Amino acid sequence: MIEYKAFEMHSHTFHSDGTFSVESLCQACKVRELDGVALTDHNTMSGWEEITPALEEQTLPVIRGIEWTTFYGHMLVIGADRYVDWRLATPENIDRFTEAISAANGAVGIAHPFSLGSPFCTGCHWEFRVKEWKNIHYVEVWSGPFPLFEPYNEPGFQMWTDLLNQGHRLAASCGIDWHENDLEENHHMPVTCLGVENGEVSTRTAREALRAGRVYVTGGPALDFQIEQSGKRHGLGAAVNSGAATLLWGVDQTARTSQWNSFGLIPRRVAFIQNGGEVLSIELSGQEKEKGQTAYELWPGWIRLELYGDYQGRADQLLGFTSPIYVEKD
Ligand SMILES: [Zn+2]
Ligand SMILES: [Zn+2]
Repeated sequence: MIEYKAFEMHSHTFHSDGTFSVESLCQACKVRELDGVALTDHNTMSGWEEITPALEEQTLPVIRGIEWTTFYGHMLVIGADRYVDWRLATPENIDRFTEAISAANGAVGIAHPFSLGSPFCTGCHWEFRVKEWKNIHYVEVWSGPFPLFEPYNEPGFQMWTDLLNQGHRLAASCGIDWHENDLEENHHMPVTCLGVENGEVSTRTAREALRAGRVYVTGGPALDFQIEQSGKRHGLGAAVNSGAATLLWGVDQTARTSQWNSFGLIPRRVAFIQNGGEVLSIELSGQEKEKGQTAYELWPGWIRLELYGDYQGRADQLLGFTSPIYVEKD
């Protein structure tokens, strides 16, 4: 049984360039009603030593990660069983390294692919020339403290969509890239939701969710998207056949409500995007928990759900989106 839990998937402490201690990071995440946080310091795992059962008991589970920080791009590595050295990676040989991480059961994500590079942030812009996309599991398409407004997130989102259209299978995440607790308490913080087995939040279940594509991003309500075909239900990251199917969707506004409902975030409609184009839009009635189903003829490629509505005075803004369900030729 898969259950979705809310995470911050990109954070730093004083073990790299953050001002948080591991404990203060965990406290800050608990205040924001998260179910887990990924600790992803730059090129170091030294913070992991501070993750103790007592700390996790008092605050929340911590996912063991690292942010590869190179001249050619930043890469999130979540839950690898062994350390893969980043220092010899170049734009041309990156596949060898992602393959090694993937073989060690790690989940690999491209961090903030279009953030400004040098001289603003050396290596922040993604320049690795990936040939083997199967070893990259997700793209951080919403990044930074204000991901819904960050201009560099638009090309990141488009890059993800283009990769899907080329036939690659990749999930998408959000990361505040949290370095210090300078976010006011009423700062709006979108989250990455991971579908973990039996609701268990751990490094293992988080990396498995990322690798399997059981991932969605939301600025507000909890989202649900499944496809029913031949009497069987398939969730995010799964593959179904082309042809007749039923799209099942849900929007739950009772999830972490106090964390987003004071930001002028009002969900208005869900849209289905197949192979990059919007194929269906369903108006919401505004109920706290809403769900529906629609018969739909699928063709090969991929399909995801997007949530639109008002945000801070602007209409029809993207408020959340799922990773795809893939459609194979029947
Ligand atoms: Zn970075
Ligand atoms: Zn970072």
